[in-house]
Amino acid sequence: MKWIGAHVSAAGGVQNTPDNANKIGAQAFALFTKNQRQWKAKDLTSEQIDGFHKAMESYGYTPNQVLPHDSYLINLGHPEDELRSKSLNAFIDELERCDQLELNLLNFHPGSHLRKISEDECLDRIADSINRALDATKNVVAVIENTAGQGSNLGYRFEHLAHIIDKIEDKSRVGVCIDTCHTFASGYDLRTEDDYHKTMGQFEEIVGFNYLRGMHLNDCKSDFASRVDRHQSIGKGTIGDGLFKMIMNDKRIDNIPMVLETINSDIWDQEIALLYSMIKDD
Ligand SMILES: [Zn+2]
Ligand SMILES: [Zn+2]
Repeated sequence: MKWIGAHVSAAGGVQNTPDNANKIGAQAFALFTKNQRQWKAKDLTSEQIDGFHKAMESYGYTPNQVLPHDSYLINLGHPEDELRSKSLNAFIDELERCDQLELNLLNFHPGSHLRKISEDECLDRIADSINRALDATKNVVAVIENTAGQGSNLGYRFEHLAHIIDKIEDKSRVGVCIDTCHTFASGYDLRTEDDYHKTMGQFEEIVGFNYLRGMHLNDCKSDFASRVDRHQSIGKGTIGDGLFKMIMNDKRIDNIPMVLETINSDIWDQEIALLYSMIKDD
């Protein structure tokens, strides 16, 4: 099954997200469980938690169809101890919020070295942060997203994801999310069938599809290998719709949330319908 959806608004509370997803014909969705631009958030209330569960049930969504995203402020590889700690505490809080909502996954960007430590040192720090966070929490899988490699952000090579996973003690609680725009902007081509098979072959070899727990489906506004992170609507960017036809018919990618973060939320319903229309009958 392909579970396609979008990163929907949690305005008014997380309990509104299943309804927002259902309205656009989504079979999957992403959400922020707190304001993504603030460190502190009020605890989820029992009303919000109950409301979320009721809405999930009434629209028939299961936890496997939901890919929460953490705050943009968190940097698990921060070179300074105090700020790494602040990030780690915020990350633990995010994992706990997901667990309270009975969700299984938390998607996050690995972190940035801020040009103060080497890439390898930063990757080790990220892995150490994840291990500590997993020790302090239960159930939820830490889902590392690949990045475009903008600035000093790590995660722009599949090797970075593999480096982190290799150091995680409980491998049952780590996974990855592949963002198509980030993949392309970081220098893995996805335009032709050959490019797609080559890139996905590298992913299988270096990371492995067994770790793939979610995808972000975005076309790209920036150029190939530009390391600039700019999303575009499906079929309107530098990648083009060929990639999405291949993904929608790739049997290795099933039963995971596949979420649009494209720039025009007014057409998400159309984009979801377009993606579903790309599936060929066998
Ligand atoms: Zn993304
Ligand atoms: Zn992005």
